[in-house]
Amino acid sequence: MMPDEPARDSPPPHESLIGAIRRYLATHPAAADTVEGIAGWAVGAVASVTADEVRTALTHMEARGEVAKRSEAGGVEVFARTDAPARTKVATVRIGIDLGGSKTEIIAFDDEGQQQLRRREPTPPDDYDAVLALIQTLVADAERACGVAPGSANVGIGTPGSLSRATGLLRGSNSVCLNGMPVKRDLEVRLGRGIALANDANCFALSEATDGAGQGAAVVFGAILGTGVGGGVVVNGRVLEGRNGIGGEWGHNPLPWPNDDERPGAACFCGQRGCIETWLSGPGIARDHHAHVPGDAPPAHEIVARAARHDAGCEATLARYEERLARALAHVINIVDPDVIVLGGGLSNVDRWYKSVPRLWSRWVFSDRVDTELVRHAHGDSSGVRGAAWLAAR
Ligand SMILES: [Zn+2]
Repeated sequence: MMPDEPARDSPPPHESLIGAIRRYLATHPAAADTVEGIAGWAVGAVASVTADEVRTALTHMEARGEVAKRSEAGGVEVFARTDAPARTKVATVRIGIDLGGSKTEIIAFDDEGQQQLRRREPTPPDDYDAVLALIQTLVADAERACGVAPGSANVGIGTPGSLSRATGLLRGSNSVCLNGMPVKRDLEVRLGRGIALANDANCFALSEATDGAGQGAAVVFGAILGTGVGGGVVVNGRVLEGRNGIGGEWGHNPLPWPNDDERPGAACFCGQRGCIETWLSGPGIARDHHAHVPGDAPPAHEIVARAARHDAGCEATLARYEERLARALAHVINIVDPDVIVLGGGLSNVDRWYKSVPRLWSRWVFSDRVDTELVRHAHGDSSGVRGAAWLAAR
């Protein structure tokens, strides 16, 4: 017994869980799901919930007349809102999965492009089989929640790295346990269907070109400025994958038109020196700041925040960064000449780039006039998972 603890007036512990289930069922009005499925989807709202706790909460909701239990084909027991409309048959579902180093996210769209569900789970660290098993579970749960037959959804997966055309093995992923593995082949066996798999930067570009900041443009270059620097090219709604599967890979070209003090540049994990990524990534801007302001080593987001408060050292770091970004993008314009360049990743959220960089880049673009638009992403963190779903539609 805990005599000092209030015995009354505190809400029962399952009330917050009931709230989460209510929100889940309200957002997905046609959803009828198993206890395990609901437990899975509710995890994002209520931390560490068990299937037993969800069953208890559903029993309370059933007693209140909020949900009803019914049996589906195969004797599967599901719960649905009592006022839920009869399920309209969804013909096809497109599923996108963003397989990241720390989290794995899934999204499902019906054939009218309406988002049916979305869920995020931690990526199992350093365990290839566990990663495959997680994706298998997420896809099966999503198909059940959307009311389509198991194995029927089109699945697209976005992940860092790319598939080698020569071997079919993934390379260059920051989820190291995926490197050297036949990820696409193994997932196709597990999921019992063909899937589409693309680099996360290509998914970003595809998402923004399809219904984001580059919508309606014929040629879109998407550049991610984050922990790493990546890029993707979309032409008339299709990702330009390229003969070697590296179309748009831009971060490991050298910074163009380097100044003497920019040579040879920092060592990059890829084996080269002075790659664009070593200058324009979050760690890159932090390294550059530290080199110019000895003794001051803030991370990228703090440099940006301090520059906004007119810290002279940080403002100078941003000025060097935007000039390098202009050079790096001028190089892209000279080769691809996109209609729109969309920036994503943490370092895309700096307002001044969108005015300063187009002012600066004409110095290096081989044209008397530069009409290329530079715009901020529309879908933010969702672009990877949305792009993967668009990939599935093709
Ligand atoms: Zn590199």
